[in-house]
Amino acid sequence: MHPSPWMNADLHCHSCVSDGTLSPQALAQRAKDHGVELWALTDHDELGGQHGAAEAARALGLPYLSGVEISVSFCGQTVHIVGLGFDADDGALQQGLAATRGGRRERALEMAGGLARAGIPGAFEGALKYVSNPELISRTHFARHLVETGVCADTNEVFRRFLTEGKPGFVPHRWASLRDAVRWITDAGGLAVIAHPARYRFTANEEHALFTEFIAHGGRGVEVVTGSHSAAEVVRYAETALEYGLAASRGSDFHSPDESHTDLGALPALPARLTPVWDWLAERIQRAH
Ligand code: AMP
Ligand code: MN
Ligand code: MN
Ligand code: MN
Repeated sequence: MHPSPWMNADLHCHSCVSDGTLSPQALAQRAKDHGVELWALTDHDELGGQHGAAEAARALGLPYLSGVEISVSFCGQTVHIVGLGFDADDGALQQGLAATRGGRRERALEMAGGLARAGIPGAFEGALKYVSNPELISRTHFARHLVETGVCADTNEVFRRFLTEGKPGFVPHRWASLRDAVRWITDAGGLAVIAHPARYRFTANEEHALFTEFIAHGGRGVEVVTGSHSAAEVVRYAETALEYGLAASRGSDFHSPDESHTDLGALPALPARLTPVWDWLAERIQRAH
């Protein structure tokens, strides 16, 4: 294994247990094939893939950290908090995630209603064709359906035209609180990380509130290198990590070979001045014995 911070860690991706298209086992193999040296599967609001991912990683000799990406409502927007290195059997974390998942079906029915009024009937049934976990119907599944039926050319176009604020298929939803999400992760022995910070549309004051409240609740990391950040955003959030004393994480946010522009392990290195989250999680890494 390379010394930190140059290690090829990929600590953010999705399987078909949430809105990815590959199984946890296929992702483990893909991570291994792409030179990943430390891996975490971080499905949205769901731990159902954790045992399969950890087992597959162990069989491949690929060091593994447990992972999750929790949907949080903060200042009127959805923020994603990644949890790493927790006990995947923790009861309070599992209950909190089950509560966070609740309401996705009703939300999806409302989304389908909005799309029907915009002239696209049958979207709920269409999206369901892409869902393997009935508790985790997400906007991504609607996007796949609208691409498959020729309404849009790709999923980005679907989000832009139909699934973001103000568009016919968008339904505002109340997710977990920042405080609960950070506590569930840390109380289960894990480290909480602010996912892809450049993706949010916060004012400077709101972003400062996000970071200070996150830290006050026990959050300790921020994604600096992600498939969602440009080179300039990596530089910007490297500064933010240093300013707030946060450890830095790195992850592709890979969902699908057909949709994701950043593949597993295909990321620039973490800027060398930063403390990688894996330095603080050394004892939580699962390895083959
Ligand atoms: P949901 O949790 O149902 O609100 O769905 C959020 C998911 O939609 C994210 O995790 C991404 O996978 C996907 N997503 C969000 N915005 C976009 C976009 N502009 N283009 C493609 N996928 C997106
Ligand atoms: Mn997703
Ligand atoms: Mn996310
Ligand atoms: Mn993600």
